[in-house]
Amino acid sequence: MNALSPWGDFGIKDYSKLIQDFGITPFNETFEDLKDNKYYRRGMLIGHRDLDKFISEAKSGKAVAILSGIKPSGIFHIGSMITAEQMIYFQQKYSNAVLFYSIADLEAYVDNGQSLDKSDEIAVYNVADMIALGMDPGRAVAYKQSSAVAVSDLAFIFSDDVTFNMLVDIYGERKISLYFAALVQAGDIFLPETKPFNGPKPVLVPVGADQDPHIRLARDLASKHKDDLQLVPPSAIYHKLVRSLTGEAKMSKRSPQSMITLSDKKEDLKQKIMNAFTGGRATIREQKELGGEPEKCPVFDLYIYFAKDDKKIKDVYEECKNGIRMCGDCKIEAYELVSNFVEEHQARRSAVINEAQALLKNSSSLVLKRPI
Ligand code: SF4
Repeated sequence: MNALSPWGDFGIKDYSKLIQDFGITPFNETFEDLKDNKYYRRGMLIGHRDLDKFISEAKSGKAVAILSGIKPSGIFHIGSMITAEQMIYFQQKYSNAVLFYSIADLEAYVDNGQSLDKSDEIAVYNVADMIALGMDPGRAVAYKQSSAVAVSDLAFIFSDDVTFNMLVDIYGERKISLYFAALVQAGDIFLPETKPFNGPKPVLVPVGADQDPHIRLARDLASKHKDDLQLVPPSAIYHKLVRSLTGEAKMSKRSPQSMITLSDKKEDLKQKIMNAFTGGRATIREQKELGGEPEKCPVFDLYIYFAKDDKKIKDVYEECKNGIRMCGDCKIEAYELVSNFVEEHQARRSAVINEAQALLKNSSSLVLKRPI
């Protein structure tokens, strides 16, 4: 079994192998509670860990938390948007849920060489993106790792529970800074269970499937601290990674042409989409005869992320398969769909910058408190 990398070194080609190798629970049967989740209906969610337990606690009205984060080494792209939408979906669904949003500026420092000052600037936009996508700031805590004493304290405590070999098993051989970043992420995951936030509670972590190593580490740490800190093992829900527009398995912030961001100008969006790799055939004649391959096509994926209704996705799929849809027209339609969304999102984001700054400021005083 190979170590899975949460640091974006490579994509995932075979989700069923990942599910099997690491014991993720697949969505084999209809999961009634997720029927109103567009990514569930559209086949973007691959599985979970203890989601049923989290949902049952959330439905009972007890305090629960949703946590995820972003490395502020860049502006929101589609991958960050999907994680954000998943968090917001659960926040909106359960009025007893508080959403925790970690800005992983320490990790951006060690993994991307980005200064903390630069992360400060980007963090405000990341939080504004969250609000613009629908996060209720009244039930949210948004903080930078570097300002969260509670998170660093937990990371230090957790460093006593792991050996070098255990971390190599989970993450492969890495610099110590990345192992430490992993322990800081565990600190993030358990922050909602600390004293300033009223102690232990179920926490759900929506993440891309490549982040599973952090979840496994956190669940192991919870079992070691079930008595002293009464930590509850976190639940997780996993989505597929966003494919690169250039055809690779995973888009990367390190390759701007491979991804769409929520800050792209219209002309950039057009250029990226019109130059994208497709699942189309070599000639129009072949496309008409054989049909395209939407399963391989990152342009088809744009419909999955941005189409307003599920029927549109089904129509595009069938028209492509049956050789009725040609890639040029399909790209133009996808561009219009994406650019309309991005344009509206940018207007919403501009209107909430002050709100984002206020949320980061208010949260800072909470995460400075002693965690235990
Ligand atoms: S017609 Fe559209 S969905 Fe089908 S392969 Fe071409 S770009 Fe992709």
